[in-house]
This record gives sequence, structure tokens and C-alpha cells, in this order.
Amino acid sequence: MAKELDLHRRSMPKQEPFERIRNFDEVALGYTEELAQEEAGRCLNCKKPLCQEGCPVGINIPEFIRYIVEGDLQAGIKKIKETNALPAVCGRVCPQEEQCESRCILGKKGEPVSIGRLERFLADWEASKGRAEKPAMASLNGKKIAIVGSGPAGITVANDLALLGYEITIFEALHAAGGVLTYGIPEFRLPKAIVKREVEYVKSLGVKLYVDYIVGKTRTIDSLFKEFDAIFVGAGAGLPWFMNIPGENLNGVYSANEYLTRCNLMKGYLFPAFDTPMKRPAIVAVFGGGNVAMDSARTALRLGADESHIVYRRSKEELPARAEEAENAEEEGVIFDYLTLPVRLIGDDQGWLTEIECIKMELGEPDASGRRSPVPMKGSEFRMKADAVIVAIGNSPNPLISMTTPGLKVGKKGNIEVDEATGKTSRDNIWAGGDVVTGAATVISAMGAGRKAAKAMHEALSGGK
Ligand code: SF4
Repeated sequence: MAKELDLHRRSMPKQEPFERIRNFDEVALGYTEELAQEEAGRCLNCKKPLCQEGCPVGINIPEFIRYIVEGDLQAGIKKIKETNALPAVCGRVCPQEEQCESRCILGKKGEPVSIGRLERFLADWEASKGRAEKPAMASLNGKKIAIVGSGPAGITVANDLALLGYEITIFEALHAAGGVLTYGIPEFRLPKAIVKREVEYVKSLGVKLYVDYIVGKTRTIDSLFKEFDAIFVGAGAGLPWFMNIPGENLNGVYSANEYLTRCNLMKGYLFPAFDTPMKRPAIVAVFGGGNVAMDSARTALRLGADESHIVYRRSKEELPARAEEAENAEEEGVIFDYLTLPVRLIGDDQGWLTEIECIKMELGEPDASGRRSPVPMKGSEFRMKADAVIVAIGNSPNPLISMTTPGLKVGKKGNIEVDEATGKTSRDNIWAGGDVVTGAATVISAMGAGRKAAKAMHEALSGGK
């Protein structure tokens, strides 16, 4: 008899909004084993699993879900780790609704299986046991690889090539590993203990990690070739964009990059226990509509702002943030000013920001991205009060590596140009992937790029074996 369809996903327990805006603890609490079993039981174990086609790293989704149904959680996490070294991270921050879950067959009639939550459940279950099982590893093959950057792309390459017998060294510019997972995403969305745990797992595969090591300054890419056979550059996109409007150099104007780095990496939210003071403005306006904008607006509320606004030039339908994150922000009291474009920042005679001049927008014809483009409405200018602005409209790669590596081709926005299928750059034995190639994108797309590059590096270095 055909399995009866269960069209509704089990919701995941969360901290209540009134409680969570007073702390930096994780908002979503994860499935219990009982909820995970129920949710896994919804999966139809399709013969042709479309969900898997939607996963940038090709996790065998129906199989790991089946292990949950059978109660063999150890086998479930092992299955995921065959293709994903960061399951606790991906289970939390990947946009599954646009990837695996968007392809799930159950989504045609009801709600797709909560694949991300099940992935997170297994990763957390393994962590609670305090012992991570390692997949089979090849013996050392005598080849050495340097990886620049310890974010999701670099960690994936390190994991994949370490398993294949390469000796891996990661060079990280900051004092803590994890890249954007550590400096960018706040504790309440991705606890740093989880990032640390997943980095430690990769180190347990024999990977060496040097922090405070800026490739392009401490040492150049070319000098690394004295020791290493090949190099992967996964240095991320750490150069923030600004609006280029008058007043952006007033006190109280931050890039989201600086604001979140101060709070997360430098633990500003724990001041004075950590020596990173953070201004506590009363009215904060965040420019942008992506996940980084949501993170900034929600951080500002937790740091005590009376009002935290998202100022976005399009409408709710075009918000690039994950629906779940925009919903969390709304529940917490973030105010969304849609169809609004800041045009000028106004300060007092001491140089501190006091107001923002904005103009209302309406949506016109679709642009190259397929989204309707915002058009200013004549005569609709108005002012809003604010004592802090956080600009969260995107980032480009830091030019340090491209400036110090002759022959490395870069695009207009400073991104390293690569062959899309392999991640190979214009220079021999240098591959690249993640945000340094694409500009700021998602964790899982960086991991997918890392996976492709690792495969291509292995093929090149092992003579196709
Ligand atoms: S498409 Fe949905 S129902 Fe089918 S195997 Fe994947 S998760 Fe299960």
C-alpha cells in the first residue's frame, strides 16, 4: 500500500522573541529525537531524489533520513560526512528552502521535508556524544597543499584533500578560524562553539592551521610555492561596499562587516568581560535586505537599541534574506522600511549622525536580475532620525592577494577569475573558490566550490588517477 502523505513539517522549538532579544543565545533550539523521527518519517525515500540534485555538495539525503527513521543516528551522520564536513553549520545557515528543500517532491502538495533541521539534528546528536567518527583516510601521498582562508570553502578543500592523503596547511588572517562563520554570523544564529567544533574536526584529520597569518602580507602566494605543490585561495570577501552618498563618513556610520566583526569575533556583546566597547545607539538603521542586514538589525536590538530599522529599496517580495531570518527579525520587533532609499546622511556640528534623508521608491520594469527595479518617486523625500547606520549592501574580495600575485586574473569587482567547473585560476597550480570568486554568497555555495576545486586539484596532482 502506498505511504500516506504527511504534508506538514514539524516546527522547530525556538526561544520566545521577548526573551531572545535580551540575550545572544541561539534562537532556534533544534529538534528533539522524537520530532526528528516524526519529520524523517515524512520522507518518501524517492527512487529519484530531486532533493539531492538541489544540494551543492550532493549529500545523499534520502539515505541519511532513512537512518534517522531506523534509529541508527551514527550511520546517519556518517553518511552526511561523506560529502559535508560542516553539517552543524549547514543545518543552521544554508538556504535549504532555495536548494534541497525547494526540490523535495512533498513541496508540490504540502510542505517539503525539513532536510536542514534533520541535518542539524544529526550533527548535534554526534556532538552531544563528544566523539566524532572519521571517514576512511588514504595514507599520505607526499604532496603538500596550502589553503588561504579557513572559511567554508577552505575548510571543505582541507577536508576533502586530507582524506585523499594530502598534507594540508591552512593560513588564516584573523586570530580565530572559520572566516565569515566566525566574524560575520552572530552567536544567536550560529554559536561559535559549533564552528570551533567543526574546525577541530577538520584539524583532527591532520590539517595544520596557522592564525594571524596574512597571505599577501606575512608571506606572498609565490613564496608559499617554495614549500607547497598547490594552493587554494578561499580568502572570502572582506571589503565592504558603501552607498557613496553624502555623509557616509560621519561618526555612527558602520559597515556591517565592522559592526558584526566587533560584536562576534571581538566579542563586543560581552563587554566589559571582553575589551571591545560597542556604541549603544538608540535608533539604528540598517541599509540592505540580505541575511547580513538581518543579522545587523537583530544584533542592534540585542545591544539595547530602542528601534532597529531595515531600510530596503525594494518590497518584501524581493528581500534577499532567508524568509526564516526575515520572520525572526520581524518577530523580534525590527521595523521594515520597504521601498525606501537613503540619499543623504545628516550630522550635528560634532560630526555625529543624527538623521537620514530618504526617498520613497516604486517598482518599475524587471532588471537584468529579473527583479523589478526600484524607481524614485519625485517629491517623496523625507527624513528619519537615527544615531547609527549600518551599511549591509555587499562586499568584494580584499585586493591583497591579487595585488601581490602577478599573473592572477581578477574581474572588475576584484574577484579572482576561475574556470567555473574546476576553480582553476589563470596561474599554474593555484585554484580558488567561494566569496573570493563570487563576491559575498552563501556558505553552501562556497562549500560546493571548494568541493569542485578539491576534485580538480586531486586530478591535476595525481595525474588523473
Ligand atoms: S525529495 Fe523529499 S521526499 Fe523525496 S527523498 Fe528527498 S526529502 Fe525525501
